[in-house]
Amino acid sequence: MNDAVSSPLPGQDAALLDQALALHQSIVTLDTHIDIPWPTGPDPFQEGTRRVDVPKMLRGGLSAGCFVAYVPQNVRIITAEEAAYVRAIAMLDRINAMQGPDAPIKVQIAPNAGAIEAAKRDGVPAIVPCVENGFAVGTDVTRIAEFRKRGAIYMTMTHNGHNALADSCNPRRDLGDREVEHGGLSAMGKQAIALMNKVGMLVDVAHTSRDTMLQAAEASRSPIVSTHSCVSALCDHSRNMVDWQLDVIRDVKGVIQITAVAAFLKPNAKPEDVTVRDFCDHVDYAVRRIGIDHVGISSDFDGGGWISDWTSAADCPNVTIELLKRGYDRGALEKLWGGNFLRTMREAERIAG
Ligand SMILES: [Zn+2]
Repeated sequence: MNDAVSSPLPGQDAALLDQALALHQSIVTLDTHIDIPWPTGPDPFQEGTRRVDVPKMLRGGLSAGCFVAYVPQNVRIITAEEAAYVRAIAMLDRINAMQGPDAPIKVQIAPNAGAIEAAKRDGVPAIVPCVENGFAVGTDVTRIAEFRKRGAIYMTMTHNGHNALADSCNPRRDLGDREVEHGGLSAMGKQAIALMNKVGMLVDVAHTSRDTMLQAAEASRSPIVSTHSCVSALCDHSRNMVDWQLDVIRDVKGVIQITAVAAFLKPNAKPEDVTVRDFCDHVDYAVRRIGIDHVGISSDFDGGGWISDWTSAADCPNVTIELLKRGYDRGALEKLWGGNFLRTMREAERIAG
């Protein structure tokens, strides 16, 4: 892990780095998918081996991060389902506990768009709770309200493997998955989306099958999002979105958050062989296809994401530098770095209740 960032890349113009850091100070910079170590791991307030900790967020000018309570898919038996729910709640409680009287650096738990913007104005990093994998509801979708009470602003419908709510893009043969189980969303999955709409949570279709994604777009009253995916036209991968999916994202006023997972950016690539140039190729493609209002940025740090010149939150200016070089202006960067995602959050909040 390379923590020696905020210094220019070889041959990089130091003025561009200053420009990127100054820009980060003036706009919300939101990374929409970051994992946390579980059950134990390095302190988030100390400079350490995590790709995202508060010191790195401050150094890289990352003003907000979506921290996920991730539960791995498991066999769908009652004990495993209960364990998944218990874990999701415990992880959300851990994320919320980052804002406490004893915190060595002040952070703000931000369960809505307004709180993310307020934290930015106050110069305090915003910690945004989220849930990854609908398996976390266990056997009872009404538990979605418990996630929202703990500030969760989105739930990813599936992870790898089908669950009771929906089909995944990556069936788990080891768990007995066939290629298709529900043909997209199950009845329970539709019920889950209705409940998410009711409590103001975004529906995240990263990891879902294409049928699930399309049906979620039709079922949800608020715009669907993919919090960490790339585009299939540049890298054919089950986790990426084909052109018609991008068009659906645009049509429902949603957003695709391009992510720093090497194998999604370049076929069969290792992280050290991928750069922010490859990352920005995916941003460019999506922007050309569906417009600047429907594309954003995520890392999947501490969950498998990193590339050679974006290895931690401290490296975020490198993404901005590459986008500046490609002609994205301040307004465009503000949209990509969180403005579009905040718009979808606000829409979810508006239709809630
Ligand atoms: Zn994921």
